[in-house]
Amino acid sequence: MTDRKTELAARLDRVEERIAAACAAAGRPRSDVTLIVVTKTFPASDVRLLAELGVRHVAENRDQEAAPKAAECSDIPLTWHFVGQLQTNKVRSVVGYADMVHSVDRERLVGALSAAAVRAGRGLGCLVQVALDAEPGEAGGRGEGVGDRGGVAPDGVPALAGALAGAEGLTCAGVMTVAPLAGPYAGRPRAAFERLTEISSRLRADHPTATMVSAGMSADLEDAVSAGATHVRVGSAVLGVRPRLG
Ligand SMILES: *Cc1c(COP(=O)(O)O)cnc(C)c1O
Repeated sequence: MTDRKTELAARLDRVEERIAAACAAAGRPRSDVTLIVVTKTFPASDVRLLAELGVRHVAENRDQEAAPKAAECSDIPLTWHFVGQLQTNKVRSVVGYADMVHSVDRERLVGALSAAAVRAGRGLGCLVQVALDAEPGEAGGRGEGVGDRGGVAPDGVPALAGALAGAEGLTCAGVMTVAPLAGPYAGRPRAAFERLTEISSRLRADHPTATMVSAGMSADLEDAVSAGATHVRVGSAVLGVRPRLG
């Protein structure tokens, strides 16, 4: 193995052990949780090595970077997840390679994704991104120090899910969140993820397809697994410290 492959294999093993231990502690079967490796800022060659090591799900957060990377890896059987803030003018490109979009946070995006999916003849799984730092009726990520994480406030989830369910080419596949840096859940990822699981349960009553709970990153994947996440999105714990964003 190359040095890089050996390094990735070792890191992947450690993450796998963490997920397995968290599942065991929560009394959940390991098969309940899918690892998505977030490959943003790392090259297509790493995606290829990860696939050789058994990774089947990868995620990206910027279309400019993801589109060429996915094209370079189009011969590999991978499920591509888009997890970043999505502008409507990037939707057509994203629909060209993504199987799942985790970051649906406004109705305008639903219309654009649906039109692009129909046009491409593809089905797209969509998750409602929930901002647990947003006030009712507001979008997330507008507050000071919060950055541009996006998401819709919890009270906006049913309407957005309804729009997804009614949109041709799209499936309402679940909910996603990023542990908030501000608001009542700041520094309390476990409580935030438990809130997401509650939101998910209520959503599934109306939308049985919405089975995915996407939560947890390198620093807090155990909290996510214990709260009921079905998908964890892990970047740096597998790939190492990210190069600075250009
Ligand atoms: C970068 C990113 C991750 C992974 O973060 P790490 O801390 O590197 O594990 C997960 N989710 C989203 C939305 C991201 O942008």
